[in-house]
Amino acid sequence: MVEGIQSVSQVTSWLVSGRTLFLAIHILGVACFAYIVAKRLVPLLRAERDLRFDRPLVRLERVFKFWLGQWKHPRYKTAGTLHILIFAGFILLAMRAFAVLIVGVSQNFVMPGLSGRAGQIYDVITDYAATVVFLCMVVAVIRRLVFKPARYEVPARFGKAHTADAVFLLALIAILMVADSLFEAAKAAGQSQLGQPVETLAVLSLPWILQIALLPVATATIGKVYAGAYLLHEVTFYFLLCYRPFGIQFHVETSLFNVYFAKLDREILKPVRWGVSDEHLDQVKSFGVKTFEDFTWKHMLDFYSCADCGRCSDNCPSNAVGRPLSPRFLTIKARDYAFQHYPMFRHSDVGSGSGNGNSKPLIGHLYSEDEIWSCTTCGACEEECPLLVEYIDKIVDLRRGLIDDGNVPQSLQKPLKALESRGNPYGKMEKKKADWANAKEFQQVCQVKTLGKSNGADTLYFVDSITSYDDRMQSIGRATAKILDHVGENFGILGAAERDSGHEVRRFGEELLFTALRDHNVEAIKASGVKKIVTADPHAFNALKHDYKDVPEVEHISQVIAREVKTGKIKFNPLESRDKVYTYHDPCYLGRHNQVYDDPRDVLDAIPGLKRVEMSRSRDRSFCCGGGGLMLFYEPKEEQRMGVKRVQMAAEAGANVIVTACPFCMVNIEDAIKVAGLEGKMTAIDLAELVDQEMVREEQKAV
Ligand code: SF4
Ligand code: SF4
Repeated sequence: MVEGIQSVSQVTSWLVSGRTLFLAIHILGVACFAYIVAKRLVPLLRAERDLRFDRPLVRLERVFKFWLGQWKHPRYKTAGTLHILIFAGFILLAMRAFAVLIVGVSQNFVMPGLSGRAGQIYDVITDYAATVVFLCMVVAVIRRLVFKPARYEVPARFGKAHTADAVFLLALIAILMVADSLFEAAKAAGQSQLGQPVETLAVLSLPWILQIALLPVATATIGKVYAGAYLLHEVTFYFLLCYRPFGIQFHVETSLFNVYFAKLDREILKPVRWGVSDEHLDQVKSFGVKTFEDFTWKHMLDFYSCADCGRCSDNCPSNAVGRPLSPRFLTIKARDYAFQHYPMFRHSDVGSGSGNGNSKPLIGHLYSEDEIWSCTTCGACEEECPLLVEYIDKIVDLRRGLIDDGNVPQSLQKPLKALESRGNPYGKMEKKKADWANAKEFQQVCQVKTLGKSNGADTLYFVDSITSYDDRMQSIGRATAKILDHVGENFGILGAAERDSGHEVRRFGEELLFTALRDHNVEAIKASGVKKIVTADPHAFNALKHDYKDVPEVEHISQVIAREVKTGKIKFNPLESRDKVYTYHDPCYLGRHNQVYDDPRDVLDAIPGLKRVEMSRSRDRSFCCGGGGLMLFYEPKEEQRMGVKRVQMAAEAGANVIVTACPFCMVNIEDAIKVAGLEGKMTAIDLAELVDQEMVREEQKAV
């Protein structure tokens, strides 16, 4: 307190004493905030279950990394730096804000541990923190109004721009920082004028500058500024606290919980219903998400926690090619729905679950069917989101709801029926599954056994449908078999006993069909007695690794090759053609979903004379080729093909050969090369094909 300047708790120039006024503001502010948060929790209480209370230590570690450590923010340099500075400023200022609030009712309050030297150091740090936060607000407003980053734009179909709301909130925070600094500055200026020991203010900080500006002002005026700044701080603080749950700033309150409860096993798809095992799925009355209340409480928390930063949509390939899907708005629309249907001052007009007559179906009201089918489940949105908002599970759940209601897109009906009857989307005969391996010419080069009671092996090569039946992709199958043979692997295939892995079927929401395919394959794999599994298809790899249980360990062929390059079993001839420039395209289900980024690159780099360049979007920012699996049968509304965008990226990087490690990528990329008019200038090759072509053999064999 400054002798000669009335303490804010004792100010009597208002209708009531300062203490009474500020106590009333505290009580009102806290009560309003508690009421608002309680109302916001109502839909979460009516939502579906979600089991997120396991592994508390792992979750805490992730809170330190992703929330406190702001791990993902630097992926966008300018916005990320701004956010880290603001966040750090808020954390540092938290105690000071609390202490300032208490001063209004208890004039000599000092935070325990912050008296004396420690308090002086803390004050200096927080002077700078307030200054930095204020400056960040100014920069953020300029970015929003002048530079207008494209990812903040709101396409007309999603409503009005969010700029005004964002700028209003930034301005409120700036006012809070100014009020806080002015309060400190007035106190120091008063002390200085009255010849009392002056509180140390950080040089060149906002409070320091304001103090210098106040020094020539009359003491009585400084007293008014002191009390006025305090009142402004109080009102702004509580206004912000209570206003935030009405918009994007709610993430300030919810983000910590959202990160704590975030999905730990990102690659494992959410079950149809938490707590319902596969064996009891037939007892589930309604599959998937049909109404808002069918979302789980955690998915609703996601809606509240989105900061509207646009990073997810900025990286979403569906959004980039003009499909009717933008993950950011999938969330914003749901959040707006929650705000509208769970109002502050009325009872909610909806009940819980899709069985409730008052709940409107989401498809047709909030989302369109095309929007939900447009997702390739590539995972780019989830990889990017700094708040760990989840998308794939929600989209798959919405698809489960559509399928449950019989809303299967026309183009998918035939492949799904074929999968049901024949175990592959092409409707081909099971007995033809091993034709690619049994062809006479190939048998002369490499003999692939079909596993059976009298024909065992250590390793199963799981081929999957596309490589087994597609004429072009069979070349990947043959190359894989030759590599396994070359490294001395005792391997075989399941042949007619192998069904489609069901990876895409599951991601298209057909859970029961998936479980049938999976159970058949698990039985066949167990019967084969193999000790490990290898596949060249990242979709099969992901299914076997994460969707299947009780099967041997699985590896992608790129991992096997990388290992055998290191052991020396695979060696390469120097490349003859020096005018080829290679680039590696990360398949989503090998890279982002399973973090296999280095092995394929190590293999390429081991080929003497191979020149490799990286595309601007690679590794965990790889751009989906257009979706594997059933996406091949789905015709989405789009302005441009994803594959075309991808081959253009390869051309921009200076490459003329795209190497991938997925048969689905190969279909899309080869097709895109033609569509982009790059035939003759650009080619695509699978990693297994390239290795088979370039590895040193005792005697060169060719098919
Ligand atoms: S998973 Fe991929 S396609 Fe689907 S919303 Fe996310 S970024 Fe877009
Ligand atoms: S979901 Fe995540 S990445 Fe997308 S806008 Fe919200 S906070 Fe940003």
